[in-house]
Amino acid sequence: MSETHTHEHASPAADAPLGALAKRSVALHLLLVEKGLLCAADIHAKVEWIENISPATGARVVARCWTDEAFKQRLLADANAAAAECDVKVIIPLVAVENTDRVHNLIVCTLCSCYPRFLIGEPPAWYKSLEYRSRAVSDPRGVLREFGLEVDADTEVRVYDSSADMRYVVIPRRPPGSEGLSEEELAAFVTRDSMIGVALTLSPDEAARSSSPLD
Ligand code: FE
Repeated sequence: MSETHTHEHASPAADAPLGALAKRSVALHLLLVEKGLLCAADIHAKVEWIENISPATGARVVARCWTDEAFKQRLLADANAAAAECDVKVIIPLVAVENTDRVHNLIVCTLCSCYPRFLIGEPPAWYKSLEYRSRAVSDPRGVLREFGLEVDADTEVRVYDSSADMRYVVIPRRPPGSEGLSEEELAAFVTRDSMIGVALTLSPDEAARSSSPLD
């Protein structure tokens, strides 16, 4: 252990037996610290950063698209650069795809669980399930129906397969009845699921009824 880092937290191994992956993670952590490549504070800062990201972060970006057409065009052209304008640190190439009256977009990671965590937080458990990962591609309309979303036959459904090199986020359509509202008010309509593409945004009425619209 490096002598310069004296504030290491006790290993969780002191409390409970670790599984193989957790053991590997602790070993890697200790090795990186020992080699001087990272210090515990770096790791804490990164964990804190990840834990502080929620769908509210992405909702701000979407609401800005709805109120600022030029921003939306910049986001569609170069999502990483446009997100940075909103103080969102995007660490992997990101593509924003816009829902319209003719196209509905859906994101998935068929291989594992790639997800725009840096924009909308941790993925829901179902996103990582084998069933979602396979059926989102083979039967997207059926999957959307099970989420309660019937997409018109004349609306094209496009499925985007995320990977380690590329993440996607859906810009959902602005709900009717939201005219004249501020960016902050609009952000309350943008749910996690609407940015994955398995749901529409909340309507103003639904948002008013919901105490936790961003879950
Ligand atoms: Fe993945």
